[in-house]
Order: sequence, then structure tokens, then C-alpha cells
Amino acid sequence: MLVETPTTLPMSTLLDGKALAEQIKQQLQRELHTLPKQPTLGIVSFDAPASSVYCRAQCLQANALGIRTRVEQLPLNVTPQRVEQLIQAWNADAAVHGIFVHQPMPPQIDAQRVSSIINPDKDVEGIHPQHSARRFFARARIGSCTALAVMALIESTGEPLEGKEAVVVGHSDIVGRPVGMLLLDALATTTICHVGTDRAKRLEEHVRRADVLVVAVGKPQFVKGEWIKQGAIVIDVGINVVGGHVKGDVEFEAATARAKYITPVPGGVGPVTVMMVMKNTIEAFKLQQRSA
Ligand code: NAP
Repeated sequence: MLVETPTTLPMSTLLDGKALAEQIKQQLQRELHTLPKQPTLGIVSFDAPASSVYCRAQCLQANALGIRTRVEQLPLNVTPQRVEQLIQAWNADAAVHGIFVHQPMPPQIDAQRVSSIINPDKDVEGIHPQHSARRFFARARIGSCTALAVMALIESTGEPLEGKEAVVVGHSDIVGRPVGMLLLDALATTTICHVGTDRAKRLEEHVRRADVLVVAVGKPQFVKGEWIKQGAIVIDVGINVVGGHVKGDVEFEAATARAKYITPVPGGVGPVTVMMVMKNTIEAFKLQQRSA
């Protein structure tokens, strides 16, 4: 969704995630009316402020759409056995169609193990190894919700991706890698940068040639505005709390002098990701109906 920016952002058009999420919500509402019953989303949240805020946002959107929610808010000292037991119970419960476990998880919980024990047909974050393997061959049945949000925001610009130089900064399993795969599927010439790129002092060089730049590092204002190529599309996935304010991974004000399109933080990728979890819950419901 494009929103003309105020005069303080002379070059850029803001990619308004809240408005795009609203559009997707209307499509999902129509789809939900065609289902034989309401899907149920199980959310595992941890006793941490960020997790609680995100959980509230998910429940609000789910309930507004007519998706039921079951929430388990776990203490930060929860045992790995308890988390595993809960997931296995929801895996076996035909009344739960989607499962989402908040990240970051407490240090005693092995996030990779948790992702791998969720029934892949119920994994609405789209990060089970089965989805990652299928994504490699462009055949994912449930996409990574954050990567889908990034792609939807890029698509909303109307700019074709084919042949563009796309640069992703960050190579995590849940954001950087799946985004890289989807950009590749869209025939963008894709580079994935990571700590090695930074240590080799070559990050700036890669960012400078990006027609499409996606940053998911988790370090406030890590990518400097002056590195941005004139006319680039910039998608800032980062969420960092600095002095009580949420900041992205890109130096926003400086970047707006060069980018053609840019996502704000907050209000960019976040709201679209929440909506993609809802979309995936509907996909998961349909997958389970087909195999019932
Ligand atoms: P993560 O698992 O911590 O991954 C961060 C990535 O950045 C890793 O691949 C890491 O590489 C890389 N990195 C770290 N330092 C770097 C450096 N100096 N130069 C280049 N790369 C570097 O985090 P994540 O889950 O991908 O999330 C990234 C950010 O996005 C966080 O702020 C998170 O809160 C946010 N997020 C937002 C949404 C949303 O919906 N808006 C969704 C998910 C995540 P190594 O692994 O090699 O260290």
C-alpha cells in the first residue's frame, strides 16, 4: 500500500504496513466465509514484554477476523519438557489448526528443536524444516510469515523484481534465508549478506548496489542512510527498542533522502507479518481438511 509521504520525506514514498495489512484482512475475511468452520490458532507466548505485546496484536487481529485463539503464556523459566508437551498436545488436537511459538525463546529452550516438532501442517510461522526444504525447490506449502510480508510490501510498489539487484542483510532461518529464496524465485539477482560480509568490510559495497534492500539484523540503525542506492526499495524488518522507542535496522531519516520506497518502523513489516500468520492459519486449516 502506497502512501504519499509528507514534505519531511522529500524522496521517498512510505510503504504503509498497516494499510496493506487492512487490505489483506479484507481478502482473508472473504476466504474465511467459505470455510466450513472457524479455524483455531494456538499461540505460545513467554512472560516478556515484547512477547506479550505481539501476542495481544495477534489475538486482536485473529478475533477481528473470526479466527479463534488459544494462548499459553509461559514463565521465562519454563522447562523444555513443558513446551514440548504443550506442542505435542496441540499437534494431536484436531480442534487446533495452527501453532505459533513466539521468538526469541528463553535460553533453555532450543528454538530449532521446537520448530521441528510442530506438525508442519500446523506450523503457521512457516519455519519447520519441511517447509524450508520445500521452499528450496519453490514448493513451500506454508510460507515463512515474515518473508511473505516482506514480499507483499515489495509487490505493493508495483515495481517488477525480475533482473533487479536484491540484497538481504541477515541470514537467519526465520527471516533472511526465506526472504532470499523468495527473491530468487521472483528472478531477482540475490545476494545474502551476513556477519562474514561485515567482517570482510564489504557490507557497504553490497548495500550500495541494491535496487531492493531487505535488512533483518536486529541492530538499531545498522545500515547507514548514505549507503542506500538512489531510487532503491528498502524493507526494514528490524525491531529494536531504544530509549523506549522502537527503531529499525536502517538509519531511517537519512535513507528517505535516497530510497524511492521505504518501510517505517514501527508500522511497516510488523502489521503485515501478523496478517500473514492469519493467512497461514487459513492455509493450515485447509491442508488439514484435505488430509482428514
Ligand atoms: P536473528 O536470528 O538474531 O538473526 C540476525 C541475523 O543478522 C543473523 O543472520 C546474523 O548473522 C546477522 N548479523 C548479526 N550481526 C551482523 C553484522 N554485523 N553484519 C551482518 N549480519 C549480521 O534475528 P531475526 O529473527 O532474523 O530478526 C532480525 C530482526 O528482525 C530483529 O530485530 C527482529 O526483532 C526483527 N523481526 C521482525 C519481524 C517483523 O515482523 N517485523 C519478524 C521477525 C523478526 P549470524 O547468525 O551469523 O550472527
